[in-house]
Amino acid sequence: MNEKYDLHCHSTASDGSLSPKEVVERAHQQGVTSLALTDHDTINGQQEAAESAVANNINYIPGIEISTTWENKCFHILGLNIDPQNATLNSNIKSLQLLRTERAKKIALKLEKRRVPNAYEAVVTMANGGMITRAHFAKFLLENSYVSTQQQAFDRYLGKGKTAFVSTIWADLHDVIHWINQAGGVAVVAHPLRYKLTASWMRRFLSAFKDAGGQGIEIITGRSSADEIRKSITFAHQYQLAASVGSDFHTPENQWVELGRLAPLPDNIQPVWELF
Ligand code: AMP
Ligand code: MN
Ligand code: MN
Ligand code: MN
Repeated sequence: MNEKYDLHCHSTASDGSLSPKEVVERAHQQGVTSLALTDHDTINGQQEAAESAVANNINYIPGIEISTTWENKCFHILGLNIDPQNATLNSNIKSLQLLRTERAKKIALKLEKRRVPNAYEAVVTMANGGMITRAHFAKFLLENSYVSTQQQAFDRYLGKGKTAFVSTIWADLHDVIHWINQAGGVAVVAHPLRYKLTASWMRRFLSAFKDAGGQGIEIITGRSSADEIRKSITFAHQYQLAASVGSDFHTPENQWVELGRLAPLPDNIQPVWELF
């Protein structure tokens, strides 16, 4: 049978639109054979996903996407093949969950000053107990016709430096890698080209990541071009990082990103799942 990995996606436990069970079922329909659900700063969807994976005969890899800050910049680090019950991990992500709620209130206050009222109540209802992210605010702005696309919500309000942007100090990069390793997992840099780093900042970041015990980097994500894949492979080779693949699927409404729809991993690189 053809193996198909997808090691990065989201459910209603954070800013995805499908429940963990629905994500697993859709992944199965798309031919995924090994899946990791990686919600932002929470493991709440893990049990449901694992149970559903058994029912759908999919190999399930427990995961999380953790928000970190390094040198005043935000980076998303995936923890793959973690033990979701791990006490260190669980107690530490609680502070990120509180931080997300506090930040959401601050974003809503800023929106209110821009004549966009009631955003906090709306995103709390929308998230329905899941982690609130800027994606929820973008959806709220779109649904209430403050913007005409999700991208416009980021360009006008939510993006870095825009009117409703709230600068946040997430968990320390080194600490996060430590928690992931403590939980028996592999730390992986998510979407390395989305941070818009200069070459020299990228080198500094990857050295710090590697020195702190990071082991992998995403080579292929939902919308990577051939050129982006080549660039990421070069980083992986330079820093001896294993290669991960993940769609970063959030919702079927985004027709450009689908579970399991990923370019194949080249032969000249070590797949991250060899470390599991
Ligand atoms: P947060 O972690 O709360 O800052 O929110 C980040 C989430 O917002 C990402 O995981 C995406 O789901 C979404 N997001 C960030 N930037 C964009 C963008 N430019 N367009 C659409 N969605 C975005
Ligand atoms: Mn997201
Ligand atoms: Mn991310
Ligand atoms: Mn993601």
